[in-house]
Amino acid sequence: MHNSTNDNKSTSKKKVVAVVGGGLVGALNACYFAKRGFQVEVFESREDIRQAKIVKGRSINLALSHRGRQALKQVGMEDTIVSKGIPMHSRMIHSLNGTQSPIPYGKKGQVILLLQSAETYPNTNLNFAHKLLDWSTETGAMTFVRAEGAKEEIQADLIVGCDGAFSAIRKQFLRQSRFNYSQTYIPHGYLELTMPPINGEFAMKPNYLHIWPRNTFMMIALPNLDKTFTCTLFMPFEEFEKVTTGDQVITFFQKYFPDAIPLIGAEALKRDYFRLPAQAMVSVKCSPYHLGDKCVLMGDAAHAVVPFYGQGMNAGFEDCLVFNEIMDQLNEDFSAVLPEYTRVRVPDDHAIADLAMYNYVEMRAHVNSKLFLFRKYVDNFLHIIMPRTIIPLYTMVTFTRTRYHKAVKRWHWQEKVRKDIVHVHFTLFKVSVAGCSYLLVRYPPNMLQALKSPF
Ligand SMILES: Cc1cc2nc3c(=O)[nH]c(=O)nc-3n(C[C@H](O)[C@H](O)[C@H](O)COP(=O)(O)OP(=O)(O)OC[C@H]3O[C@@H](n4cnc5c(N)ncnc54)[C@H](O)[C@@H]3O)c2cc1C
Repeated sequence: MHNSTNDNKSTSKKKVVAVVGGGLVGALNACYFAKRGFQVEVFESREDIRQAKIVKGRSINLALSHRGRQALKQVGMEDTIVSKGIPMHSRMIHSLNGTQSPIPYGKKGQVILLLQSAETYPNTNLNFAHKLLDWSTETGAMTFVRAEGAKEEIQADLIVGCDGAFSAIRKQFLRQSRFNYSQTYIPHGYLELTMPPINGEFAMKPNYLHIWPRNTFMMIALPNLDKTFTCTLFMPFEEFEKVTTGDQVITFFQKYFPDAIPLIGAEALKRDYFRLPAQAMVSVKCSPYHLGDKCVLMGDAAHAVVPFYGQGMNAGFEDCLVFNEIMDQLNEDFSAVLPEYTRVRVPDDHAIADLAMYNYVEMRAHVNSKLFLFRKYVDNFLHIIMPRTIIPLYTMVTFTRTRYHKAVKRWHWQEKVRKDIVHVHFTLFKVSVAGCSYLLVRYPPNMLQALKSPF
């Protein structure tokens, strides 16, 4: 039996905060709590990924936007993380015939930088190879299993569940009365492919999010610092299951992504397509995010969202920032801070979960459509002439800290205004046509006279 409260390396007089999960959100949270002077114990089920030669699992690229940057800024990590990324200014759409057209509008290594930053605080311990099995809502005691199978029981004053979409911390919440929970798997899975540099340069224009929208499925590509692109293919599982041989992969790509074959390389494509099975994507919503003054959920543990708004990590980082703001307002009194965090954050995280699901449909089906492009055009035009009144939803979500649920509310209002404007113009047009027709019928011009006389 081990008790971190008595056995820590710090001389901090403050309470012990156990951050369970040393992923992106857990690592950032560790920095926040450490900065406040708490004794922070991070428990991560994996071995230290900074030392591991092979890291199992996915290595998805992540788009860091304004919210995430603001959250990093508070702990002095914005510049460090941003310097390891590539700016993306807009989307580049790849059509079936290979033409490319722009639509104006990080990476897992970030977690290493964040863990390193957390470790610079003397009041922080990183405990790798500690997998949480269960915890007691009565005593707050957590049971971990070590790599060699030994069990450890650990106590803390506050447990922060940052252990991802399949959170073990959340299991205790599910046993509570009046805890709302839903999870939805989408029919799509994803797999990743690497597009290598060509002659030492990026194979495509680097400052874009490249998108190949193909109705029921799509591929996207994001640039990396080493001049590769990570391509992510999103497709229904039943379609993945139809492609079982290297030759079938090439036939499939020839049909839907012909321009990508020479860029990825036919041999690499045949090989890498089968490297890992397609991964599932889940959307999780729950409420409340806290249990008494003992435990709170953040990041994917609280709200896994499908990745089609590029906001999962950003929302998780903003969770840390919002929690920190509430800690300031309520003098670090957990019994007041935790319920307030639930009150403030649940509507926003639910809103981004819904928006991500909405974009799941929009990105696949509509990026190609004339109506979608027209709507974007009208939105952008109205934004230019009325910059304070009409702000495109994507701008509010990606480039501001407008609360997600307020952005959605405002978007619905703007949609109504846009429809009204289009409707008024259309009605005016119809009235003018009807008026002209009436005048022409009522007072037909004397065409012969008109042709004869120049005046
Ligand atoms: C294909 C794809 C693309 C994405 N693109 C973007 C994007 O562009 N922008 C964006 O903002 N977001 C994106 N996301 C979402 C983003 O990856 C997640 O929101 C983010 O990783 C969540 O971080 P987290 O720390 O909450 O959870 P995770 O990253 O899942 O970390 C959880 C950690 O907890 C550990 N853990 C799990 N169980 C236990 C346990 N029992 N005990 C101890 N430790 C445990 C895990 O090992 C892990 O290290 C994308 C997601 C996917 C799938």
